[in-house]
Parts: sequence; structure tokens; C-alpha cells
Amino acid sequence: MEFAFTEADAAFRSDLVAYLEPELAHWTRSEFGLGSAVFTDFSREFVRTLAAKGWLTPHWPVEYGGGGQGAWQHFVLGEEMWMRGEPRGPQYMNVNWVGPAIIKYGTEEQKRTLLPPITRGEVFWCQGFSEPEAGTDLAALRTRAVRDGDGYVLNGQKIWTSYANEADYCFLLARTGTVADGRDGISVFLLPLDTPGVEVRRIEGFVGAHSFNEVFLTDARVPAESRLGEENKGWEIVRRTLAYERVGAPRYARAARVLDGLAEWCRNAGLLADPGIQEQFGNARVLCEAARVLVYRVIDERAKGKEPSPMAYQARAAMVLAERAVGDLALDVMGSEALVEHSPGDAQFRNSLGAGIAAGSYETQLNLISRLILELPKG
Ligand SMILES: Cc1cc2nc3c(=O)[nH]c(=O)nc-3n(C[C@H](O)[C@H](O)[C@H](O)COP(=O)(O)OP(=O)(O)OC[C@H]3O[C@@H](n4cnc5c(N)ncnc54)[C@H](O)[C@@H]3O)c2cc1C
Repeated sequence: MEFAFTEADAAFRSDLVAYLEPELAHWTRSEFGLGSAVFTDFSREFVRTLAAKGWLTPHWPVEYGGGGQGAWQHFVLGEEMWMRGEPRGPQYMNVNWVGPAIIKYGTEEQKRTLLPPITRGEVFWCQGFSEPEAGTDLAALRTRAVRDGDGYVLNGQKIWTSYANEADYCFLLARTGTVADGRDGISVFLLPLDTPGVEVRRIEGFVGAHSFNEVFLTDARVPAESRLGEENKGWEIVRRTLAYERVGAPRYARAARVLDGLAEWCRNAGLLADPGIQEQFGNARVLCEAARVLVYRVIDERAKGKEPSPMAYQARAAMVLAERAVGDLALDVMGSEALVEHSPGDAQFRNSLGAGIAAGSYETQLNLISRLILELPKG
């Protein structure tokens, strides 16, 4: 593994930072509230500007509107965005895995119609995977897609769908086979959310103003052309997609930045000389750095064109530990001040709660590590 960034990647980072610092000087995610209208309006405007500079999808192939750059540049972009609170809003899903899934599995028509609006920063996508009885056990999902003439009729319910209230499309999993087929009876649909029969309902959540939704599908009819990949072969797409999603967000970068802010707060409060607090800072910093290196191993694989490996589970679990350590530290040192809504401590603590559940819970990652990396017998 090569630890240094290439000159081109380093130059890309400094250009990006020079642009972002003034551009985002007055923007903080914690003030706006994740999923709030003001956040999403800001994101819509911001990503259009990024797209115009070629910085929305620099890692996509040139023929699909990208910049033809590599996996590292994609990650430099991700680090700089996440450490600033992810001003792209839900766009990180589009650029990290929705677009790449369409590039890999889509028809020419799907690529022609769906990719350009993503590269121009004109659309939001959301992810319709989880259901009330199918979260960790995603293969148990029950939303049905029944073939009817030249289309499918969708019925069912999704839950915890981040940004569905603002999104234009949903990357939706539905059952085209029977429940007994398990993962072999699932297909992916690229569903416009203005399809009649689709209803989005808000769920009040702990993460932000309006971050979660339920999506109800009642006889929603879609053309057969909206299916991505072959019928009943959606699981392969999901497997790949989740590998990208798990390490798509460089959470350690934000945790490390919050940690720096907490150190400043402690210095001002005269607490930094306390050896116990120093030790906590040391531990949290080590966890951030460990997560960074484990994520870099995954990016190194990507950059070399290898298939996603189980190292993504390790990287994800390490990021959860880093987020939690910084969230706990915020509560420990700031006390009740860290509970004030929209304070950095509050935002970090909420993030750390979500990190251990979203994209497959922490416990799920541990199960996968024990089976696929440590090769321990199933308990
Ligand atoms: C911030 C956030 C954003 C999200 N965004 C989306 C989204 O946009 N789209 C979407 O589809 N979903 C989204 N989700 C949902 C997320 O994918 C699910 O919450 C997650 O997969 C867990 O499923 P569940 O909530 O049904 O919990 P369950 O599967 O019921 O699990 C509950 C608890 O039991 C534990 N558990 C379950 N099975 C096992 C096992 N075999 N071994 C050990 N422990 C186990 C889990 O670790 C967890 O702690 C989001 C969740 C969060 C927190």
C-alpha cells in the first residue's frame, strides 16, 4: 500500500479546500438540521456549482459525464465534504453508488436518461431498502413487484428512507419472486417518486429535522424499463452497492474535526491538562486514525480495480467506533452543554447513534468479520 497521495490528488485537495473554505464559511450542518428544507435547498444550489466545476462526479468515466479520475480523488472529495458536515446532502448517494450501479448494470437508455441529471447535480435519489420486518435481514423484504403486461405493479412499504421527502427517484428493492426465494427473488427498480400510488410520510427521528420517512406503495405502476439489471438478480447489485455504501462516507474525517473542536473547547475551559481527559482524547484520536487507515485499504483495492472484499466490514466497524468515541467524549467533557440542540457535541452524539445502525448495524458488521475474515464458526 502506498501511503502518500499522488501530486495530482494532493493538488486536487488543495484546490477543493481553497474553494470550500470561503464557500462554506457560514454553513454548518448542525445549525440547518439534516433533512430540513433549508439544508436541502442549500445542497441543491451547492451541488450545481460543484458540478459546473467538474467536482461532483470527478471519478465517473468521461463517457458518462465524469472526470475520468480515480478512486482516490473520489475519496479526497468525500473526506473534504464529510468533515464539513456533508453539504452535498443526499447527493453523496448519487455519486457514490446510485450512478455507479446504473453505469454497471443499466441499459443504454437508463444511462442516457438517468446519469446526466446526476452529473449536473439536478436530482436527488433515495434508497428504498429497509422495511418494517426487513432491516438486518434485508432478504426478508416483502414489497412486491408483480409483472403486468409491459410493466410492474408495486405494493408494499419501505421505512427509514432518508431524504425520500426531497428525492426525485428511489433506488428500490422489491420482490419479483416469492418470499421463499429469499435473496434470489429480489429485483431493483429505479422509481420516480412522483409515480401515482407512491406516498411519502415523515417519521420524526433523532438524527435531524426531517431525516426519516416511510414510503408506501399502493398499486404503483412502473414500466418494465425501470427495472435495473435482470429480474430476480437484484441481490448481486445490492451486495456491490452496499460494499460501496459502507465505506462511502468517510465518517472518521468528521469525527476527527469535531475532536479538534472539542480539544479547543477543553483548552478554553482549562480542562486539557487533566491526564484522564488527555487519555480520552488520545484514545479517540487513535480510533479516528485506525478507521482512516482501514478505509484507505478498501480504497486501495478499488483503485486497483479489485472486487469489494470483506475489509469493508472492518472499515465500517472501525468508523462506528471512532464516531462513538468522539460522541461519548463530547458528552463527558461538555456535560449538559453537549446536549444543547445543534451544538457540535449534540450533532456528534446523534451521528454516532446513527452510524452504528445505518448501512447495516455494527453488530452485523461484527458477525460478518467473524465469519468472513476470522473464519470463526457461526454461533
Ligand atoms: C441514520 C440512518 C439512516 C438510514 N437510512 C436508510 C435509508 O435511506 N434507506 C433504507 O432503506 N434504510 C435506511 N436506514 C435503515 C437501516 O438500514 C436499518 O435500520 C438497519 O439495517 C437495521 O435494521 P432495523 O432497524 O430493522 O433493525 P433490526 O434488524 O431489527 O436490528 C435491531 C438490533 O438487533 C441487532 N441484530 C439483528 N440481527 C442480528 C444478528 N443476526 N446478530 C446480532 N445482532 C443482530 C441489530 O444489530 C440491531 O442492533 C437508516 C438507518 C439509520 C439509523
